[in-house]
Amino acid sequence: MESFLHIGIDDTDSTKQGCTTYVAALLVEKICGMNAVFLDYPHLIRLNPNVPWKTRGNGALCLRVKIDEDLKESLVEEVMETVEENADLDAPGTEPGIVVYAGQEIPPALTKFARRTITRIVRRDEAIRLIQRFQCEAIGFKGGRGLIGALAAIGEPLFRDHTYELIAYRSQKNRGTLRRVDDTSVFKMNVKTRGLTFSNVDDAKRRILITPRGPDPVLLGIRGETSDVVKKAFGMLKVLEAVERWVVFRTNQGTDAHLCNIDSISQASPNCTVVVTGSIINKPKTIPGRHVIFTLGDEGGHIDCAAYEPTGKFKNEVRKLMNGDVVEVYGGVRRPSNGNPTTINLEKMRVIKLASKTMLRNPVCQSCGKSMESMGRGQGFRCKKCGRRDRNAEKRVVPIKRTLSERLYIPPPRAHRHLTKPESRYSHEKSLERKSLFPKHFWGLGKRLTRN
Ligand SMILES: [Zn+2]
Repeated sequence: MESFLHIGIDDTDSTKQGCTTYVAALLVEKICGMNAVFLDYPHLIRLNPNVPWKTRGNGALCLRVKIDEDLKESLVEEVMETVEENADLDAPGTEPGIVVYAGQEIPPALTKFARRTITRIVRRDEAIRLIQRFQCEAIGFKGGRGLIGALAAIGEPLFRDHTYELIAYRSQKNRGTLRRVDDTSVFKMNVKTRGLTFSNVDDAKRRILITPRGPDPVLLGIRGETSDVVKKAFGMLKVLEAVERWVVFRTNQGTDAHLCNIDSISQASPNCTVVVTGSIINKPKTIPGRHVIFTLGDEGGHIDCAAYEPTGKFKNEVRKLMNGDVVEVYGGVRRPSNGNPTTINLEKMRVIKLASKTMLRNPVCQSCGKSMESMGRGQGFRCKKCGRRDRNAEKRVVPIKRTLSERLYIPPPRAHRHLTKPESRYSHEKSLERKSLFPKHFWGLGKRLTRN
């Protein structure tokens, strides 16, 4: 008898060490050695980026396999051991969770739960109720908060828009040292795969973005539209240190899956990433730290919106907004703190309608066409060039030329969250055809890529 197993894992890492994707990468190798068949790529599901207790990226993992019923027990044991060995259990706030669901199809209730975990805050009780209802096996370490993400990863089948990420890991001895990847080769790869990969580099700062900082085992990650293109892109890089292993994940990164559309500003609840339309009621001002803040209003209320300094050019565009402009804002809602009111931290902005603005200018001389100047209140105007006087001349009303356009504005890739859909992905959104589910070679050990 064959068994279909969905193994969800979450919250094994801390800010100091580890990475849940690495635990999944280790498991991929072990499970392949157990005569199991992978039903899909390992899934990397990014959850709500606004939860207050996240470590780095708030990502959970799910492995989906077909295995002989008799081997199920030893597989679950292997998962438990691998998580225990690799999780940073001593770190406060790290509360790993493992959930195993057996079944060929994912129940809609779990998918609903997953979507809520990606867009809002859910409680552990809800996860535990579903775990019991669907007779999952579950292991929660310490407080077991990781059960929420582990169950959510199982529940998100990624049938809608999705992307791929190839993650390569460092050998043990190099961890904690500077990552050695040739920058020039990354810029070249970026040009060669343009439109098919994303968030490789930041052009404005001439900086590569595929390598994280910090002591975790990740060497680099390449994001793209297909499994083939991220593998091809990896092959183009000059990597100057040992690669321990690599895995291609299917993921909701770069899909905007975290956004909640709301109808009015009054519905903006803290810790969600909302999309809401309103008009500017307090024009942008720059506050210390070079952040830009404006107030957005609609019939029901108003809310502050902030574009932070690291968003660079985006922040400068935001500064050009004027009262009366109608915009759709995208951003995480932060509850009031340090005397600041509830604020939307802008991730994107779409200018829907620019207000038409006018200003008064001095009249033009009827003789020479140059600008005139006022001779004092009620005294008329005099030409600066030819000296012509005109008692009846009046100031002209001229439109202010706006340098914003009615379009979408997105910050540069360095300021993106994992879930933010980058500019290059617009109109490349895809859904999955079930027949394409079966992964080919999606992992490897050492530097070399397995050829398909
Ligand atoms: Zn004149």
